[in-house]
Amino acid sequence: MTEWNNWGRCESVTPVERVRPSSVDEVSAVVRSARDRGLRVKAVGTGHSFTGIAVAPGVQVDMSGLTGVLRVDGTRVTLGGGTVLHDLPPLLDPLGLALQNMGDIDAQTITGATSTGTHGTGAKFGGLATRIVGATLVTGAGDILNVSETENSKLLPAVALGLGALGVLVDVTVDCVPSFGLRCVETPEPLELVLTEWTQRIAEADHFEFYWFPHTEAALTITNTRLPADAPTKPLSAASRWFDESLMSNTFFAGSTAFQRRFPGTTPRINRLSTGLTGNRAFSDKSYRVFTTERRVRFREMEYAIPQDQIPTVLREIKALIERKGWTISFPVEVRAAAKDELWMSTATDRATGYIAVHRYFREDPTEYFTAVETIMKAHEGRPHWGKMNTRTAADLAPAYPKFGEFLKVRDQLDPDRVFTNDYLDRVLGK
Ligand SMILES: Cc1cc2nc3c(=O)[nH]c(=O)nc-3n(C[C@H](O)[C@H](O)[C@H](O)COP(=O)(O)OP(=O)(O)OC[C@H]3O[C@@H](n4cnc5c(N)ncnc54)[C@H](O)[C@@H]3O)c2cc1C
Repeated sequence: MTEWNNWGRCESVTPVERVRPSSVDEVSAVVRSARDRGLRVKAVGTGHSFTGIAVAPGVQVDMSGLTGVLRVDGTRVTLGGGTVLHDLPPLLDPLGLALQNMGDIDAQTITGATSTGTHGTGAKFGGLATRIVGATLVTGAGDILNVSETENSKLLPAVALGLGALGVLVDVTVDCVPSFGLRCVETPEPLELVLTEWTQRIAEADHFEFYWFPHTEAALTITNTRLPADAPTKPLSAASRWFDESLMSNTFFAGSTAFQRRFPGTTPRINRLSTGLTGNRAFSDKSYRVFTTERRVRFREMEYAIPQDQIPTVLREIKALIERKGWTISFPVEVRAAAKDELWMSTATDRATGYIAVHRYFREDPTEYFTAVETIMKAHEGRPHWGKMNTRTAADLAPAYPKFGEFLKVRDQLDPDRVFTNDYLDRVLGK
């Protein structure tokens, strides 16, 4: 059996068995057979979680045999659980549909992304899982369970964002929206101005986010405005897309990150240079081409959700921390927003949310930086992204989620024998 590694190269495992089912009945047989042999089961997506949430020491379920559009009902599209986000535009575009919002990349599977609470930015929009209106799940007993607004509806807020702890999602029904375009404006701006205007910026824009480059006073702001599908667009030319995204954001960034590792004293100057070389552009295109970009430079990430209005205070605390410690941090800090939602384990459950993400090059030890940032986040009622590095435990997470106890009851009901657990879930949910 070959070893499995996650994208960030911080988790690995050699499963006892790897299976690739192509029907719901096969998934059910896999779960029953594993349970009878005392093995645990874990469906994996494309391994883009930085935590051990997808680690499968027992039976690893490769979902790539269960993909594509299964049904369409108005804007509601039922997708095979293994469908990769990147494959959606050619499937949804001809239907005149699109995902309502997206994160930074499209390399994840729909079920991997939604199971960890993957989100983009936009104070009026929720994460990807908030659009799930139905699912077919294989439970720990190997039973097939349909969950929707009309069947087992009480389970929907748990199953839509279930951390992979409740079963194998064979398919999910996503409420899409009519296709749309986005106008994107990227501008380097003074960090303090952006922090002062944070609440206003996220309220006025459809999708606002910014990157702060440590050791500088500059933020790169990204403001996206939704356009009707038939509005004329001005996409980036192939050459400028290549220059900005392939050369500057990946090739130059990879080279400069490796250089800074050898010569950390150069980081402040390179970060200042980066704020001048990247950004400062405006274009418009189909939504999915604007929301997502390619990330070829490997890194590790921790991201926390905090009350939206605390973003300026917390970012200033992180800036002061980096200055005080004298660390050199080459990766920018990413700041986003999301609407409050009602999914029990969502990082945005019950509160309007701001996100702050910190990164480190994958060959650098992130522990000291991430631990100190996590301490700040905890002091601000922070909730960790389930797919990004954190050290939290069930005991200290429970008070942060109003429905934590109810989620655990559903887990007891759907997976009483803990067929779907692993070390990470034991830590964050308990055994
Ligand atoms: C470069 C990069 C950029 C990223 N950008 C963002 C971003 O912009 N916003 C954001 O919020 N996150 C982001 N992430 C995090 C990422 O979206 C999540 O970690 C996501 O879960 C990864 O999806 P995946 O398909 O790789 O799932 P995996 O990491 O393989 O699995 C994640 C979880 O889903 C479960 N799972 C997978 N398939 C099924 C299934 N069929 N049934 C039940 N459970 C299942 C797994 O068991 C596991 O618990 C990024 C990660 C990387 C590496």
